[in-house]
Amino acid sequence: MFDKILIANRGEIALRVIRACREMGIGSVAVHSTADSDAMHVRMADEAICIGPPSSTDSYLNVAAIVAACEVTGAQAIHPGYGFLSENANFVQILQDHGITFIGPTAEHIRVMGDKITAKDTMKRLGVPCVPGSDGGVPDLETALQVGRDIGYPVIIKATAGGGGKGMKVANSEEEMTNAFRTARSEGKANFGNDEVYIEKYLDTPRHIEIQVFGDGKGKAVHLGERDCSLQRRHQKVFEEAPGPSIDAETRAKIGEICANAVADINYIGAGTIEFLYENGEFYFIEMNTRLQVEHPVTEGIFGVDLVREQILVAAGKDMTFGQDDLKINGHSIEVRINAERLPNFAPCPGKITQYHAPGGLGVRMDSALYDGYSIPPYYDSLIGKLIVHGRDRPEALARLSRALGELIVDGVDTTVPLFYALLAEQDILDGNYDIHWLEHWLETNL
Ligand code: ADP
Repeated sequence: MFDKILIANRGEIALRVIRACREMGIGSVAVHSTADSDAMHVRMADEAICIGPPSSTDSYLNVAAIVAACEVTGAQAIHPGYGFLSENANFVQILQDHGITFIGPTAEHIRVMGDKITAKDTMKRLGVPCVPGSDGGVPDLETALQVGRDIGYPVIIKATAGGGGKGMKVANSEEEMTNAFRTARSEGKANFGNDEVYIEKYLDTPRHIEIQVFGDGKGKAVHLGERDCSLQRRHQKVFEEAPGPSIDAETRAKIGEICANAVADINYIGAGTIEFLYENGEFYFIEMNTRLQVEHPVTEGIFGVDLVREQILVAAGKDMTFGQDDLKINGHSIEVRINAERLPNFAPCPGKITQYHAPGGLGVRMDSALYDGYSIPPYYDSLIGKLIVHGRDRPEALARLSRALGELIVDGVDTTVPLFYALLAEQDILDGNYDIHWLEHWLETNL
């Protein structure tokens, strides 16, 4: 087993990894920018090293500085968390060249799944159902218009290298195609340095259902059911739950097995998420994330496993601690993402936390790097905490969420907490009756 792991991240996810290391008796090294000298992950880790100025490009994405930090501290492995370098195949390759273990999949798997066209091709080949659409990249407007005629409007144009909801444009008609096609390309170029796009049928009322998979890299893989992440604003998730209110045991077993077999086939190692749109009882693959996801705690909640611990174990060449038959769903879990943002526009709201109090009690988990007097820097993501609850069933989890939100105090900055209060008063939310457009529609009329 590793003696020491470096965490190439910040915020709540850095804490999450440090906690797993500590329980396993492994030393932890935090890295931080000059803007994060007082951050909680720096305080909590066994050691900390400054890797550059505030801008992410110069710090949390600074590969040379991170590799140097490993060499100086003697860390043998790096956990990337999510975001930043977690899905950067070149980074994984460089670590390999330096004899440092990357806690995550191989560079090749990251590369294949990071390109949405090769990802789709691979999944199709592995027997995973996909959204109908263009056959690979769409080179010009002519071809785009042809694809539109073939599959029928509305369609969605997506940047091959896209992520985080960027580089996606919907076209409802041939007239809208010209603009949508150009915008998706230029967003792809501007955000991901790649203007290749592809086209998919735009599904009207799907739910976003994602399957958690986990492999040992030696041909064994399991699935840990689904998460329903349909409540989204601008394609960004805000509320996630497991199990999905619309998925029954038989459906879960069927799609879960397809996913587990697919990743077993390619000797996938570690945690991964296969994302689908789900409409009229059919699953349509949209992308695979080759990392731990923000919303992984809801899966941990219902299965009682520690996914980060498993990631570390398999990265060190050990076996997973569970097989498919050991994984039994227990109750219901919900996560809400608490962002430092001002409603109704969700404008980032960094600043000083004058008072922080985390909720507690049975079935409540608060993953956050906040503390009294902490100043949220303006340079990074606005996610400042995840409140995760667990109950024996969905109504109990909802009641617990409401109760825990009431205990939470975050003073000094605006947060998305009022949104969740409002959502908990909606019958559709209480009934689990929502699709990927529900929240956008609701926001238009309610905020
Ligand atoms: P990203 O990598 O930016 O997260 P995804 O491909 O995962 O992009 O899609 C993110 C979200 O965009 C989905 O959860 C869904 O809400 C919406 N979306 C993506 N593809 C489609 C589609 N074919 N039809 C309708 N909505 C879609």
